Amino acid sequence: MTHADPTLSKAPAPLQISMDEYWMPFTPNRDFKHDPKMVVRAEGMYLWSDRGEKILDGSAGLFCVNAGHGRREIADAVGAQLRELDFIAPFTRGHPKQFQLATRVAELTPGDLNRIFFVNSGSEAVDTAMKVALAYHQARGQGGRNMFISRERAYHGVNFGGVSLAGMINNRRKFGPTLPGIAHMRHTHLKENVYTQGQGAQGAELAEDLMRFINLYGAENIAACFVEPIAGSTGCLVPPKGYLERLRAICDANGILLVFDEVICGFGRTGKAFAAQSFAVTPDLMTMAKGLTNGAQPMGAVAISERIHDTIMGAAADGSIEFFHGYTYSGHPGPCAAGLATLDIYRKEGLFERGAALSPYFLDALWSLKGLPAVADLRGYGMLAAVEIHPDSTPGRRGHALQKKLFDNGLHLKATGDCVIVSPPLIAEKSHVDAIVDILRRTLATI
Ligand code: PLP
Repeated sequence: MTHADPTLSKAPAPLQISMDEYWMPFTPNRDFKHDPKMVVRAEGMYLWSDRGEKILDGSAGLFCVNAGHGRREIADAVGAQLRELDFIAPFTRGHPKQFQLATRVAELTPGDLNRIFFVNSGSEAVDTAMKVALAYHQARGQGGRNMFISRERAYHGVNFGGVSLAGMINNRRKFGPTLPGIAHMRHTHLKENVYTQGQGAQGAELAEDLMRFINLYGAENIAACFVEPIAGSTGCLVPPKGYLERLRAICDANGILLVFDEVICGFGRTGKAFAAQSFAVTPDLMTMAKGLTNGAQPMGAVAISERIHDTIMGAAADGSIEFFHGYTYSGHPGPCAAGLATLDIYRKEGLFERGAALSPYFLDALWSLKGLPAVADLRGYGMLAAVEIHPDSTPGRRGHALQKKLFDNGLHLKATGDCVIVSPPLIAEKSHVDAIVDILRRTLATI
């Protein structure tokens, strides 16, 4: 693909629109509306603001745009699909692309995670996976298993299931007691692993927290253990060596399902299709979204092991609905077309392999920031990394200020607390990595 011309010949006048009506998600609305950061165009590695400024996208939007922005193949596929079939009731009716996309996703998933349920977002994927876990245990006569184990600092979306699993305090503190029966293991951020590239040597024993909950609540009451293989939204916490393997072993020994939430990690971010393959640990259920359609259409999915699927199917009466769950837009024709076109691009351009090849350069370049006075830690794996800075007296305030300054200096990065998360599109060249690090270095010197 070609990259866009770096300059707009004529900077357009900033748009004159009302800022009052739209309530923005996960945004300090009053701050934004005071100094709006409007993006009006995107192509390849770049965004353009309404003032004509060119901004390098160092976070693939929000970990979505792995094949780069403005992919015409995806736009054309969606347009053609909507002209041919814009919508079909997803309950009791089907269209071919749902089945084709499920087959293509199943070709990428590890083990026997070959049954695919489509949803519209990562949050819906998480809630769907929770329901699949409960339905599975009911179907095999172990309906007492209705607790879930999650982890501190986890992000599993914003629906009530995901918020109940969540371990990021601001995402739960205003929303009441959430679902009962959820216990949180400790997170895996250890000071012993500060500045470690890849997996830290310390911390595998934190997986024993799962064993403690089994001893406390009884395995017969626990349905599933949810983890992000790399905790993304909290600032890229890479699992310590041996940690995921230990979780897998404990789950196996106790009849508990292991669920990997791969909404960020999936589709090449860790150098393979999924982090499960990068870390060689196969879960029983896997959630995904974001990179599934390159961010061009809203879509998520749950990959389910054949064993779990067959158990649920087998327990239902002939001709009955086996799983009372689904969304009006599950497997919508537009996102399905986008997903197929996206997976074609990933395959044709070898983007997962490309990310794996670029990763050492990417991580080394970021690690050149070590020692800057503002920098407190660097963490990373594959094409996903975080730069953590020292906070001031209000946690998150400096991170937010950094993110705004970076944008003004021509770099879009997702900030979380006092971290920025770097996850460029997998089409990135070394020169883009250099530019990201250069802008980071210059900006970090000013905060
Ligand atoms: N799970 C994980 C691990 C995520 O990182 C996210 C979003 O970043 C979600 C779930 C929620 O996805 P969505 O925002 O599409 O609902």
